[in-house]
Formats: sequence, C-alpha cells, structure tokens
Amino acid sequence: MLDKKNFYINGQWVKPSSSEEIKVIDPATEENCAVISLGNQQDVDAAVGAAKKAFETWAFSPKEERISLLEKLYEVYKKRWADIAEAITMEMGAPKDFSTKLQAGTGAAHIKSFIKYLKNFEFEKPLGEHAPNQRILYEPKGVCTLITPWNWPMNQVCLKVVPALASGCTMILKPSELAPLSSMILAELIDEVKFPAGVFNLVNGDGATTGNALTAHPDVNMISFTGSTRAGALISQNAAKDFKRVSLELGGKGANIIFNDADPEAIERGALRCFRNSGQSCNAPTRMLVEKSMYKEAVERLKKYAENFEVGDPKKEGEHIGPVISETQFNKIQTLIQKGIDEGAKLVAGGVGKPDGLEKGYFVKPTVFADVNNNMEVARTEIFGPVLSVMPFENEEEAIKIANDTPYGLTNYIQTQDPEKVKRVARKLRSGMVDVNGVGIAVDAPFGGYKHSGIGREAGAHGLEEFLEVKAVGGWN
Ligand code: NAD
Repeated sequence: MLDKKNFYINGQWVKPSSSEEIKVIDPATEENCAVISLGNQQDVDAAVGAAKKAFETWAFSPKEERISLLEKLYEVYKKRWADIAEAITMEMGAPKDFSTKLQAGTGAAHIKSFIKYLKNFEFEKPLGEHAPNQRILYEPKGVCTLITPWNWPMNQVCLKVVPALASGCTMILKPSELAPLSSMILAELIDEVKFPAGVFNLVNGDGATTGNALTAHPDVNMISFTGSTRAGALISQNAAKDFKRVSLELGGKGANIIFNDADPEAIERGALRCFRNSGQSCNAPTRMLVEKSMYKEAVERLKKYAENFEVGDPKKEGEHIGPVISETQFNKIQTLIQKGIDEGAKLVAGGVGKPDGLEKGYFVKPTVFADVNNNMEVARTEIFGPVLSVMPFENEEEAIKIANDTPYGLTNYIQTQDPEKVKRVARKLRSGMVDVNGVGIAVDAPFGGYKHSGIGREAGAHGLEEFLEVKAVGGWN
C-alpha cells in the first residue's frame, strides 16, 4: 500500500497538520492501494498563504520564464508517462491501453497545446487602430483553487494547472480523493522542474471539509471546478460571498441523433462512445435518438454489440472496459438500471448484477434500454455508467426537441451524411459542443457546457483566458 500522506505546499512535501486519513481503493480489486490525508482548515490556510505570497512575483514573471518551465514540465511528463498511466489504472480502473493512450495522453496533449497558445498570446495590446493609446492588459486572476474529479484525472488536472501556470496565477490543487495518485505524480514533476515555491500547491481531502475550506477561503480569487452539478452549485454559493471568479465543468446527458442516412458504423460507434471509460465521461452520448425507419435494426445491432462488449481486468492490455470507480457509484448505477426496468424501458442487453466471472471489483454490465421516453429517469439522470438509453424519433424537428429537453447542455452528437442537415441541427442544439459523424472536437477547442453543464470553457486559447482578468488603460502612449 502506498503512503501518500504528505501535501505539497510552498515548494516542499510537508506533513499535514491533520491526522485524518482517507483510503484509496483500487476499484478492480476492492483493495486499499494507497492512503492520503484529509486536509483541514490549517492545511488549507498554509497552502493558500503560500500561493498568495508567490503570486506577488509569479504574476509579473516574464512569459519566457513560464514557457521554459512548462517546456521542461512537458519533457518530464513524457518520461513519467507510463507511471502516470499505471497510477490512473490503479486509482480509477481505466484499462492499461486506455490509460496510456487517452487518459495520460490527453494530459500531455494539453501541456503541449497550452505552451503553443502561451507563446502566441499577447498579454498587452491596443484596443484597435482607432485608439492606439487605449491599452488592453490581460492579467492573472490570482490565487486559484482547482478541484477535479476522478473520471479523467490527468486530463482535468492539466486543463486547470497548466493554463493557471501559463497565465501567472498561483494555485492549490485538490484532486479527487478517489483518484489522487496521478496528480501526486504531477506534483513531483512540478517540483522536479522547479517552479518557484508556492506557485503550485497540492492539498488532498474530500469535498465537505477540504473542498469547502478551499472554496470559502477569502484569499482565493478564482475557483475552477470540474465535477457534479450538485457540488458546482454549492461551490458557486461559497464563491458568491466575495465575488470569486468561477469556472465550472459539470455533468451531461448527451444526445446522439442518428438519422437514417448515417454512415454504416454510426450505431456501434455511438454505443462505444457511451460505454468507453465505463460510461464515466461527462460528454458521453448516453441518449441515442434513432430515426424511426431504422430504429428496429438499430436496437438489434445494439443488443449484439453490447452483449459482445468485453469488460475485464484493467491491468490487462486490450480495448475492454474496466470497473466503475467505487462501490457507491456501482450501487447508484444498479439502482438506476432497476429504475429503468421498473419504469417500463425495454432491457435489451446487460442489466443489474455483475458480468459473469467478475465477482470482485465494481464491474457493471454494458446495458442498453430501448423504447425509452425522455421523461424516464434513465433519460434524465446522468448515470455515469455504461448504460445507453435508446429512443425513436419521427423527424429532424422532433430529434432536436428531445435532444434539447434536458437540464444539461454539454455535448450532443449528429450522424448524417447530409452536410446541410449537419449545419441546421448543430446550430439548434443547446450545447457547448457538437460532435459530427465521429469527429470529436479538437484538443484545443473550447470545452464546456450550456445550462446545468457549467460556466466557462477549458482548453486552448479559451482555457488560457479563463485565468486572466481584462484591464483597460487609457492614455497609454
Ligand atoms: P463530485 O462533484 O462529487 O466531486 C468532484 C470533486 O469535487 C472532488 O474533488 C470532490 O472532493 C470535490 N467536491 C465535492 N463536493 C464539494 C464541495 N461541496 N465543495 C468543494 N469541493 C467538493 O463529482 P465526482 O463524482 O467526483 O465526478 C463525477 C461528476 O463530474 C459527474 O457528474 C460528471 O459529469 C462531472 N464531470 C464533468 C466534466 C466536465 O468537464 N463537464 C468532466 C468530468 C466530470
């Protein structure tokens, strides 16, 4: 069992003032694989104090210094890539190949991409040719609390830590208490490349104690949070008291609209995108809307696909899916599957209980419900497991109406070979992102949602600007 009890504060690994511990459980074995500490108010005060002090100089550091340190970070990240992937597999159960290529891979891609945007970013520029002595300055927002979930740990951490570093902000990262190990490796890398003391700090803990202290702290200027809509609302209340800037990436319930002229792989591709990462992606297409004329065929294909979809040991190579994150999450998914059955949705594949031969570990059967209507709980609640809800639609107008009939608005999907239909439908979908015919958004495209899916955008230029305040100065000359 790994001992990961120390925090990283003011450029050093330090003993926490708290003696409370949290066990990290490997979801594939249900065994305790590591222990971390639960940060208390004193730990949070120390980390925020260090970040506040460091901001005085880091905010005014030359851009070249930040580029050079981030380039070094990218180099050491590549050296520890395999360790990061292994930690992710252990802490949240993503299979080895998926952890390596996608989970650890997206972290690296974001570091590389932010370096490029930082190099090209103009922190000071004139308002325009008409007003040459009106200067617009982009300045770091200050001390940032960064709170992340467990489902894409390195992706989410790098989407926050790297632009915060690039912009000249200082920060306290609190990774998910369920999956903190990959973040602790990132802290080791930041230590190795020698960012100035206090610029980056890491405090572990849960939401109620540590997360609450970090979001309520009066010396924190900005909160960037990814996680549940429930926690996002609580954090916003904390932020409102002293007008902290808030960026929220929350849940989703994406619709995948499959028109009858979709390409031949659209159905199976949609199921794969729903099941991937064991269904634990906020942007997963969990509602499949199929045009009536091909609905019956689609349901038959989905049954076959789900029944043959492999679930297994995440430590083994291959394209299978692993367990879900925790016992709590496993139980929540089971309850929602049962709810779907009770509500009258047609269970086509999967269902309650564990897949054959996988009694130990939080493994869930890839599940497909057909004949779902959009008012059922399986169509409205973010299940965060490999559960697909399929429903028919008559025409384009009805498909858009069903897709938009949700409190969420993160990613929707369109499958059709008619380019005009793509444009018409994409414009009408109330979501921050639209994925067309299997073409996802680029690594540096703005990532974020409408409605209850959040506020703000991460990645690329938009992600960097989230960490910057805008100042207008007249009479610059
Ligand atoms: P969660 O909200 O329970 O936890 C996320 C993080 O917030 C953890 O670090 C947790 O300790 C912390 N936290 C919880 N309550 C808090 C509080 N009151 N104050 C401060 N911090 C608090 O979510 P989860 O179960 O870990 O993650 C799954 C959720 O995250 C899903 O709803 C998913 O859709 C969402 N998510 C969204 C995105 C996105 O980019 N939109 C990405 C990944 C996950």
